[in-house]
Amino acid sequence: MSTALKDQFGRSIEYLRISVTDRCNFRCLYCMPAEGLPWLPKAEILSYEEIGGVVRQLAPLGLRRLRITGGEPTIRPNLEELVRLLRAVPEIEDIALSTNGARLPELAHRLRDAGLDRINMSADSLRPDRIAKIARRNLGFDPATSALAAERAGLAPIKINVVVMRSINDDEIEDFARLTLDHPWHVRFIELMPVGEMSGLTWEHIVPSDEVLSRIASLGALAKDGGPPRGNGPAEYYRLAGAPGTIGVITPMTHTYCASCNRVRLTADGRLRTCLFGDHEVLLRDALRQHEPLEPLFRQALADKPKEHALLQMKVGGLRALSQVGG
Ligand code: SAM
Ligand code: SF4
Repeated sequence: MSTALKDQFGRSIEYLRISVTDRCNFRCLYCMPAEGLPWLPKAEILSYEEIGGVVRQLAPLGLRRLRITGGEPTIRPNLEELVRLLRAVPEIEDIALSTNGARLPELAHRLRDAGLDRINMSADSLRPDRIAKIARRNLGFDPATSALAAERAGLAPIKINVVVMRSINDDEIEDFARLTLDHPWHVRFIELMPVGEMSGLTWEHIVPSDEVLSRIASLGALAKDGGPPRGNGPAEYYRLAGAPGTIGVITPMTHTYCASCNRVRLTADGRLRTCLFGDHEVLLRDALRQHEPLEPLFRQALADKPKEHALLQMKVGGLRALSQVGG
C-alpha cells in the first residue's frame, strides 16, 4: 500500500499550488517585462482533466489543500470547471485561488458556486493611476470593489497581498492597514523578491517587514494575532486594536520558512517543482498523457526537495519569474 509522501527531511506534502497558465492580463513591474514573456506553447499546457488526474493521484498520498495560481488563473476560460473537478476529490479539504482581482466582480459567484473556498488577491495600490502604472495595464481594477465582490459571493477568508516597493507604493502602507479597521480582511505585506524581470527594481526597493510594522504601529496599538482561520502560509499576523481584519507580513528576504515548507508546485506545463527557487522539478506531463502511474515521479521529485532555498545568496536576475513557476 502507498505510504504518505514525506521528503528526506521528514516534511510531509499536504499542499499543492497549481499554475493553470503562465500568461497574465497585468504586467506587474516586479513580475514580468512590459512586452510579456516567451509563453508556453498551448499543446504543453495541462488540460483541466489532466490537472485533476495529478490531484487524484496525489490525494491518497496525503495531499489535502490546493491553491490555483498562475500567471493569472482567471484569464483561463471556464476556470470554474477546474474548481468543480478538484472539489469532487474527496480528500481535498481546502481550495484557494491567487488572483490579481481584476476579474473577480464578474467571476466570484461562479467560482464560489463551483466550490472555491477562498481567495488571495494581489493589490499594490489603492490609487487608480498608480495601479495602472505598477500593473502597466489599465483594466479599471479597484481592489476594494473586487474584495467586496468576493466577500459577497461567500469566499472567506479574504487575503490581500501587497508587494511593498520603496518610493513606489510604500506611502500607502498605512492606507492598506486602515482597510482592516473597516473590513474583516487580512492585508499581508510582502517583501519584494529579486526574481525574474525586475523592470528597474533593485535591492534598494525592498522594504523590510520590520519597517512596515513600525509604520503601521503609528496608527494605534498593534498586537500579535493568530491570523485568519484558514491557510497556513508563511505570514506572521498582527491586529490593530478593535480591527475586524488582520495585518500580515511575509518576509522571504529577511527570514526563511524552509524548515516547515510543506508545499510543492505544479507548473502549467506539468512539472512538479519542489522549491520555488532553483531547478528542482520533475516532468509529469508525458507520464500523465501515456496513462502511466505518477507515484514514482512524485517520490523522485520529493527525494530532490532541497533543505532550503538559495535566494538570499543570489544576486538580482537569473531566477525565473513567479508567474512562470506558479508563485
Ligand atoms: N496573478 C496572481 C496574482 O498576482 O496574485 C497569481 C500569481 S502571482 C505570480 C502570485 C504572487 O506573487 C502575487 O501576490 C505577486 O504579488 C507575487 N509576486 C510576484 N513577483 C514577486 C516578486 N518579485 N516579489 C514579491 N512578490 C512577488
Ligand atoms: Fe500577473 Fe500576478 Fe505577475 Fe502581476 S504578479 S504580472 S498579476 S502573474
